[in-house]
Amino acid sequence: MPTAEELRTNCCICGGGPAGMMLGYLLARAGVNVTVLEKHGDFLRDFRGDTIHPSTLELMHELGLLAEFLQRPHQEVRQITGYFGDTEITVADFTQLSTQCKFLAFMPQWDFLNFLAEQGNRLPTFHVRMRAEVTGLIEESEKVVGVEATTPDGPLQVRADLVVGADGRHSTVRAQAGLKVKNLGAPIDVLWMRLSRQEGDPHQPLGRFNRGKVLVMLDRGEFWQCAFVIPKGGIEDIRRRGLDAFRQDVAEVAPFLRERLDELTDWNDIKLLTVLIDRLEKWYRPGLLCIGDAAHAMSPIGGVGINLAIQDAVAAANLLAGPLRQSAVSIVQLQKVQRRRQMPAHFTQRLQIFVQDRLLSGVLASRKQVAMPWPLRLVRRWPFLRRFPAWLIGIGIRPEHIAT
Ligand SMILES: Cc1cc2nc3c(=O)[nH]c(=O)nc-3n(C[C@H](O)[C@H](O)[C@H](O)COP(=O)(O)OP(=O)(O)OC[C@H]3O[C@@H](n4cnc5c(N)ncnc54)[C@H](O)[C@@H]3O)c2cc1C
Repeated sequence: MPTAEELRTNCCICGGGPAGMMLGYLLARAGVNVTVLEKHGDFLRDFRGDTIHPSTLELMHELGLLAEFLQRPHQEVRQITGYFGDTEITVADFTQLSTQCKFLAFMPQWDFLNFLAEQGNRLPTFHVRMRAEVTGLIEESEKVVGVEATTPDGPLQVRADLVVGADGRHSTVRAQAGLKVKNLGAPIDVLWMRLSRQEGDPHQPLGRFNRGKVLVMLDRGEFWQCAFVIPKGGIEDIRRRGLDAFRQDVAEVAPFLRERLDELTDWNDIKLLTVLIDRLEKWYRPGLLCIGDAAHAMSPIGGVGINLAIQDAVAAANLLAGPLRQSAVSIVQLQKVQRRRQMPAHFTQRLQIFVQDRLLSGVLASRKQVAMPWPLRLVRRWPFLRRFPAWLIGIGIRPEHIAT
């Protein structure tokens, strides 16, 4: 067995997603020694959600990074529109928000994470180890004191005053810590694919609901990123019916895409993303805290998981930077992070469950066009109500501000 490389840091963050990278940057900026361990070799992975919310842009403004950040290629979305059958409806209007940026930015998530890594790399206390996969926790007297990881150069041990699990919805850290997970159930999965954009296509993100089918389309400049929603476990049935039948399903819900569906040449062009909604009862143990999807896995409904992950990171940095600088993080301080962020996460999950159970399940189970649900009828009747979905998606409950 090769001997393990050993490192010592104040805070070891497992996972370089939005939660982990934001927390790493903020803590390093506050003078805390941070090591982020990310199992992949780069941030270049598809299908992680590319939404940068007005609340995150507000944080960039507070950090003095907004102008530089907005120089990266992105699309700005001011309204979200849906089609219920043939009826068009604007669901959310971001122009009413009181934030610096009154839009949702679409930017590939790897650009966002690379930006945070670049900013972090300017700080002497920020370290990211790519291709470092956390496999276990090091514990002494019931306290987590570090992690074990594998790297291409051999095993790695990182000892830290605090270990943060920011390793997403299939978190190794929370499993190794034995933290109890409550599964809230998600009756849907998503098929994710790209189709080209053409002259004359609409510009906004679109949700289309039609006769047992739901398609969400995100404008990514040269292509549409499409999410076709299916009942959980329905992929085998769809594959059995064949690719032509699947193309026909997509054309039924979005007829203007019909001519481009040949771009889906085989099932490799269509990725299955399983949807989960769950949460930890307790986000912490002595020496360990979970944040983001590792603490509360979010459904893609509403596109808000990244926002919540980043807001958790800001709250954790605000509450823990001081104690971490003194290597003295107590269980009470970890408890405070959960107390602060639990309500926004639970409330948002409840809303996602309401939408999936009351709206999506009904549409997916019916072969006919179902009646427009009452929340959409209300927004259609009184356009000023569009500011509420915009606020929920764009800012969310209990927005955090940089205090480090
Ligand atoms: C199909 C789908 C679409 C979505 N679309 C959107 C959207 O448009 N907008 C939105 O806001 N949210 C969306 N979400 C939700 C969003 O992806 C998550 O809520 C968000 O990514 C959570 O961020 P995170 O940093 O907590 O975790 P993640 O983004 O999952 O990041 C975790 C990181 O940890 C790394 N990691 C995992 N295990 C280890 C390990 N053992 N060691 C080291 N590193 C590890 C991973 O490689 C990853 O980089 C979507 C979710 C799904 C399922």
